[in-house]
Amino acid sequence: MVLDSIGNALKKSIDKISSAIFVDKSLIDSIVKDLQRALITADVNIKLVKEISEKVRDLGQKNIKGVEKKEQLIKLLNDEIISILGGERKTLELDKKETILFVGLYGTGKTTTISKIATYYKKRGRKIALLGLDVHRPAAPEQLEQLGEKITVDTFIDKEEKDPIKIYKTHKKQLEKYDLVLVDSAGRDALEDTLIKEISDISKIVKPTQTILVIAADIGQAAKTQVEAFQKATNISGVIVTRMDSSAKAGGALTACAQTKAPVYFIGTGEKPNDLELFNPQSFVSRLLGMGDLETLIEKVKSATTEKDQAKLQKKLEEGKFTLDDFYEQLKSMQGIGSFSKIKDLIPGLGKAKIPDEQIESQEAKMKNWKYIIQSMTKEEKENPDILEKETSRLQRIAEGSGTTTNEIRQLLKQYKLIKEMASGVGSMDDMDMSDPSKLMSNKQMMKLAKKFGKKKRMF
Ligand code: GDP
Ligand code: MG
Repeated sequence: MVLDSIGNALKKSIDKISSAIFVDKSLIDSIVKDLQRALITADVNIKLVKEISEKVRDLGQKNIKGVEKKEQLIKLLNDEIISILGGERKTLELDKKETILFVGLYGTGKTTTISKIATYYKKRGRKIALLGLDVHRPAAPEQLEQLGEKITVDTFIDKEEKDPIKIYKTHKKQLEKYDLVLVDSAGRDALEDTLIKEISDISKIVKPTQTILVIAADIGQAAKTQVEAFQKATNISGVIVTRMDSSAKAGGALTACAQTKAPVYFIGTGEKPNDLELFNPQSFVSRLLGMGDLETLIEKVKSATTEKDQAKLQKKLEEGKFTLDDFYEQLKSMQGIGSFSKIKDLIPGLGKAKIPDEQIESQEAKMKNWKYIIQSMTKEEKENPDILEKETSRLQRIAEGSGTTTNEIRQLLKQYKLIKEMASGVGSMDDMDMSDPSKLMSNKQMMKLAKKFGKKKRMF
């Protein structure tokens, strides 16, 4: 899929932020690490990567209350990714009559893209003609002709003529009947002088209303140099980036284009005439995240935990006074967000994850049972759970009272102890991975479940 790594890192980060109990240094560090890895994998320029990381860190250090900070972080990530992909982009606006010249190096997808653009605008009622001026590549006219036939669009070519100007002149009169003429041109291995001259000669005679540069996503961030070189040598109005479906460097290509003044109008996402998409960073990102419901998520994050609760909990953890009652409060607040299946739909990225229903149900059931278990304990037991291990008859009583098993109680105690130990024993809060509440709530469990859902893993 297009930009998988960036999309996944974003989803993961937003997921971490939503489910974290505190926005602290370790949460920020872990988000920055994920983002950096993803952006670099997608070949995004290291300078851009550093800039985003700085912004996330700066926000992380700001003295903003926890929930508000979560909200701002999610927005920041969302906005930054949209911005590096080009922010608000111009869409290709066509007048009643247009002639578009497609230029680019060898094999970038010019001819294929022309068939895609033709398909796109044909559906929108345009009367389209294709004109083949690629006189260099063997069988280029035939390729265009075949594509034209496939999509039933009139195609003008000349299989013998080697002078593009002459080909144009031969068909000039006929082309006037069309309101959108798409002109295919020849490429070269590099932007050499002969290519520049050819494009400029064609432009002088054909007088295209737009010249679109076609580049392949494979070149990653080198797209910047290529776009700029073409901008300098010719009159580029915009760019189409092809092979977004098959290149891991797509992120680099798009972000590199965003740094030039040329807008990316479309992206090519396959070899077929229909594999073309309008490129709009904003909708692109929301689709990457599969959300559309960022606001709702933020609302839920807000209402689930109050500032006071958070501060209280943090203090207790730091002082090692985290009792089973507090653990119970945590469980309750998590359930306040809703059932796991509802949370799943709200957390971008999780919505689409294939989580077996039984797994959600068993997790929900477990959490519910933990609540019953704690409810069945005496005050003394809640404050000093050690006695439960010394006097095992108590376990039996609680199990009966809560309709659970002693085994479940032992699991719960294990989780609770683990959290307490982490908080009081092993150093400061910053040493804890608070970004991962699973480690806080219970090793490998709870919210981590959300992350690990879908993978065939034993949760408990
Ligand atoms: P040209 O030399 O610039 O005209 O490039 P072509 O249009 O002939 O395309 C070169 C190769 O890239 C062909 O095999 C196309 O099928 C392939 N191609 C073009 N666009 C895309 C795309 O968006 N995705 C994929 N996967 N392949 C593409
Ligand atoms: Mg071609």
